[in-house]
Amino acid sequence: RNNDGETIDYVYKVVVIGDSAVGKTQVLSRFTRNEFCLDSKSTIGVEFQTRTLTIKSKVIKAQIWDTAGQERYRAVTSAYYRGALGAMLVYDITKRESFDHVARWVEELRAHASNSIVIALIGNKVDLEDKRAVPSEDAVEFAKNQGLYFFETSALTGDNVEAAFCKLLEEIYCVAS
Ligand code: GDP
Repeated sequence: RNNDGETIDYVYKVVVIGDSAVGKTQVLSRFTRNEFCLDSKSTIGVEFQTRTLTIKSKVIKAQIWDTAGQERYRAVTSAYYRGALGAMLVYDITKRESFDHVARWVEELRAHASNSIVIALIGNKVDLEDKRAVPSEDAVEFAKNQGLYFFETSALTGDNVEAAFCKLLEEIYCVAS
């Protein structure tokens, strides 16, 4: 049960991964608190945030884990992936390198996470269109080849963040139930 005494039907663990500074923490706080905070590292040390929402008439509590900076030290451990039903793999559309590393993150997921994990590829910071370094088509093609859902988002404006998480949670519901 949640705080309102509402019955929770399912709890889904989702992990957020990707290179550092691509906006993982901001995408997460946009979804869970509808906030974008300029002092973004204030959330360091917080393991996960939650948001409860209704999907296909079921009350689903999304428990979304943030790496809290661990990706800098390549210290994302298998405990982080354990039990995860979904993953948000984030890159920065203005940083080509962060997209070039996406394949490595997919390998990491395939090695440590469940085989049935649902993965969404997220090109973040679309509000910086004039600085774009990754054409959408490149990501569309990669996502298609790897069987990932693809969204371009802005944690700053909130653009598409809700849609991306809702799609991921809906797909988890389809796979898990
Ligand atoms: P993380 O290391 O992947 O968790 O990245 P953060 O969430 O800490 O964000 C890294 C930097 O990018 C911070 O300065 C954020 O303010 C900025 N940032 C995150 N998301 C966006 C976005 O959608 N648009 C813009 N313009 N900046 C963003």
